[in-house]
Amino acid sequence: MDIQEWEQRHTDAFYNVKGALPYLEGMFVAYNSNIDAIKHLTDKDLSKLIGLFNEAEIQARVETYPREIKEPLDFAARLLISMREGKAAEIPTYTSDIHEWLKENLGFDYARMGGQAGIISNLLASLGLNKVVAYIPWLSKEQAEYFVASDNLLHPKVEGEKVVLKPPKKAFKPGAESKVNWIFEYSRDLEITCGGSKFRVPRDNRLIISSRPKWLRLDMDREIYEHLDSLLPIDGAILSGYQMIKEQYEDGSTYRDYVCHSVKAIEKLKSLNPELRIHVELTSIQNRVIRKAILTEIIAKHVHSLGLDTVEVANALNVLGHEELSYSVIKKEENGITSLYHGAVQLLKDLSLERVHVHSLGFYICILAKGHPLTLKEHRDALLFSSTLAGAKALNGKIENLEEAEAGLEVPISSKGLEDLENFKLYCVGKKLCTPEEFEYGYLYGADHDAVLIPSKVVNQPKATVGIGDAISAGAFAAMLARMKQSQSRE
Ligand code: ADP
Repeated sequence: MDIQEWEQRHTDAFYNVKGALPYLEGMFVAYNSNIDAIKHLTDKDLSKLIGLFNEAEIQARVETYPREIKEPLDFAARLLISMREGKAAEIPTYTSDIHEWLKENLGFDYARMGGQAGIISNLLASLGLNKVVAYIPWLSKEQAEYFVASDNLLHPKVEGEKVVLKPPKKAFKPGAESKVNWIFEYSRDLEITCGGSKFRVPRDNRLIISSRPKWLRLDMDREIYEHLDSLLPIDGAILSGYQMIKEQYEDGSTYRDYVCHSVKAIEKLKSLNPELRIHVELTSIQNRVIRKAILTEIIAKHVHSLGLDTVEVANALNVLGHEELSYSVIKKEENGITSLYHGAVQLLKDLSLERVHVHSLGFYICILAKGHPLTLKEHRDALLFSSTLAGAKALNGKIENLEEAEAGLEVPISSKGLEDLENFKLYCVGKKLCTPEEFEYGYLYGADHDAVLIPSKVVNQPKATVGIGDAISAGAFAAMLARMKQSQSRE
């Protein structure tokens, strides 16, 4: 594949999509956002922290390997374990007590927007979409501060009998608590002495305390559901956060209740605008019952488009009964891309989708059901646009406007990604899935589906990697919808 040609295609696609974005009237983005509080731990922080406890008690707690943070001692113990091994860990906490304690005793260096819907709303508003309607069921005053202050970013608010759209800072729920995840980063070579044991941190890594407060419900307020038409006009919806659904709640409700409400919200959105497209952004879901319910009950038949990374393709295939395919996707051997392609096609079929967009480091694959209104070239432009967004985000750690997005064009295409695609080309041409010429364009025409494959831009030493996957999926979906609206306006 010709790298220069693909660089040029990235540039052309960026300007094509930029020209189409104004045709989009609005995008709805729900449900999850949180605050990420980041603290880089120094020697001083660590001696202060250890000094707050009896060292023998910390050691005793290390032995019990707490799987949940119930009190500060659990945190101290899990931090020591993570640092001793230099191994990343994410541990849940179900109350906000530890948040208060950490704020008082350690503090954070900085805080940022976290959660897929929060990250995606900010990105789309920064790209200058006419209207982005974010909806976070637990929007607190503190959380609202993390949304970009821009006239095109709004949030529904119940006022008397009506639902009105307001800037998030004016739409929060008074008294709502915040969901704050703490991210503790540490560097290699820190020396730790505690309760007679001494070690040196083997590598840079981090410990995350993820907040799962009991009040958290993935649901839509009744009044907002009743007045969903107040959000219009919207052309599409990007939904995420379903991983927060739990099997059982203390009040007796179960995941079935929330799955059912989620489907109703989707169906209502579609009934308000039959042209509306729904995209679900998937992330890691540990619980298999929930993973399967989300795939087969919320996504299948109800949504149009799915965005996910390679690990999620394997996880999804696994609960859908395709263990062998799932295993070969996760093994990531030389023919990993072939398995990934077949896996994505399988998801399109099993879940009756219109579009499955898989992002990997160095290339993206998008599987399309036959009969989609856009051409493969237009779909390819949408993917290339999102690759430029990924480049910009990895390069500068942020995208605050379209000019900053354009900086992604400077990032080179991944040579590893091109190599993976070259390998896949041999397979496709050998199996007569396409001609070598079609593959050069990134197009595959199957019997019951089509596909677009692109090599993507990758930053060697990224400034940040959080939320790049979200930017890729949301960027490509918005670009695709914008092109659809643009062609409709020409008809
Ligand atoms: P997250 O949820 O943190 O965004 P994902 O696994 O969903 O993580 O997405 C990560 C994606 O971001 C990868 O699939 C890859 O395409 C992209 N990506 C990761 N690192 C870089 C980088 N340095 N440069 C460009 N793209 C990157």
